[in-house]
Amino acid sequence: MEIPEAGLSEEGLSRLMSEYRSQDGDWRSGKTWSLVFYAGEDVYEIAKKAYLEFFSENALNPATFPSLRRFEAEVVAMGASLLGDPDAVGNMTSGGTESLLLALKTARDWSRDKKGITDPEVVLPVTAHPALLKGAHYFGIRPVITPVRDDFAADVDAIAEAIGRNTVLVVGSAPQYPQGVIDPIEEIAAVAAERDIPMHVDACLGGYFLPWLPQLGYDIPRFDLSVEGVWSLSADLHKYGYTAKGASTVFYKDPSYRRYQFFAYAGWPGGLYGSPSIAGTRPGGAIAAAWAVMRHLGREGYLRLAQGVMNTTERLMGCVRSIDELDILGNPAMCVFAFGSKDPGFDVVSLGAKMHDRGWRLDRQQLPDSMHMMVTPAHSGVVDRFCEDLSRAAEDVRTEATSKVTGEGRRKAGAAHYGGITGSATMRKEDDARRYEEAILGFLDGLNRL
Ligand SMILES: *Cc1c(COP(=O)(O)O)cnc(C)c1O
Repeated sequence: MEIPEAGLSEEGLSRLMSEYRSQDGDWRSGKTWSLVFYAGEDVYEIAKKAYLEFFSENALNPATFPSLRRFEAEVVAMGASLLGDPDAVGNMTSGGTESLLLALKTARDWSRDKKGITDPEVVLPVTAHPALLKGAHYFGIRPVITPVRDDFAADVDAIAEAIGRNTVLVVGSAPQYPQGVIDPIEEIAAVAAERDIPMHVDACLGGYFLPWLPQLGYDIPRFDLSVEGVWSLSADLHKYGYTAKGASTVFYKDPSYRRYQFFAYAGWPGGLYGSPSIAGTRPGGAIAAAWAVMRHLGREGYLRLAQGVMNTTERLMGCVRSIDELDILGNPAMCVFAFGSKDPGFDVVSLGAKMHDRGWRLDRQQLPDSMHMMVTPAHSGVVDRFCEDLSRAAEDVRTEATSKVTGEGRRKAGAAHYGGITGSATMRKEDDARRYEEAILGFLDGLNRL
């Protein structure tokens, strides 16, 4: 394909775009359970308008756009206060991954400078987000992966044991993605502090949701910047901050530590160059939209949304628990949870396939086999339909259980995947892992080919 000789009219483009998107996940109707965090048309319009207003502006050079600088400073200040330390410093980034990459790089460079560590390692529970492994891969840091307890929370003793003289960072999540469980942040931080090792809290998922829960009567263990021994924390605005994509925050207790995040270069003929984060050009729209949504919702708005989402979550969990064979994994802290089967004769993957046939897009997980759900305001109206379909789907699985589950049924649910990479089975062994990674790379190779 080439750039067309004659350009298309707006109308022609619109027609084509509708056609291209016809198979896209229908997030507005609440049938998807990841990727989009929809808080209703009102919030959506606020974000969209602000994004379009600042669509062309570039936060690469804050001197040219004082507006963006002010938006970002206010977003960071609002985030820092919400997350336990109004005096913390921070930056907006393009997403959770960039925030985590920066936390890793900062720790690596600080540890090289202050401690002479040249063979860096990061200690992280197996449930920590793969963006951390990606960052370790990019920055030449060896990941030391620790097991979790039976309730899927990080095992602090295992972390203590894994820390060595090359450890530059210890990570805990609030909550971790797979089961929505909060790691014991205070204990992990204490173990890291004992050895003067920086600790990062990955609150990408929970950072803009968990803080509202105590006011709603839920018990939440301390996880934020106020915890002794926490050095940095990441929190995504484009998840439960309900803003446009391309918005996350990363915070640091100590400005002199954050210095190691930055890059400056004075020798370029193009001029003096400085950049706080990974991206060069930074879209003004994402920054403006985050600011607008936070100012628009206010504490009242976030609290109201959190209340609604928690009500929906409890009703959904009730449906899952009402199916005898199913079990919620661990103790999910907020509105993200996974369920699996406690009956070896009842295949939760087949259940996912049956739900898929009814239009529901549940994300399949592995180790153990389970289905993942992230509840948003978009789901408040679908609970009854979901519950009916779940109980029918469960009945179908029981009926089929006697006649061995077909490979076809399992395949339909897709392999355990995150963000859309689909294979055909669940990984079990190291060898399998290698094979699957090779297959994933092949998939990525093919992605942008027509
Ligand atoms: C979503 C998520 C990330 C990564 O964020 P992206 O915005 O997808 O880059 C990291 N950690 C956790 C716990 C997450 O849920």
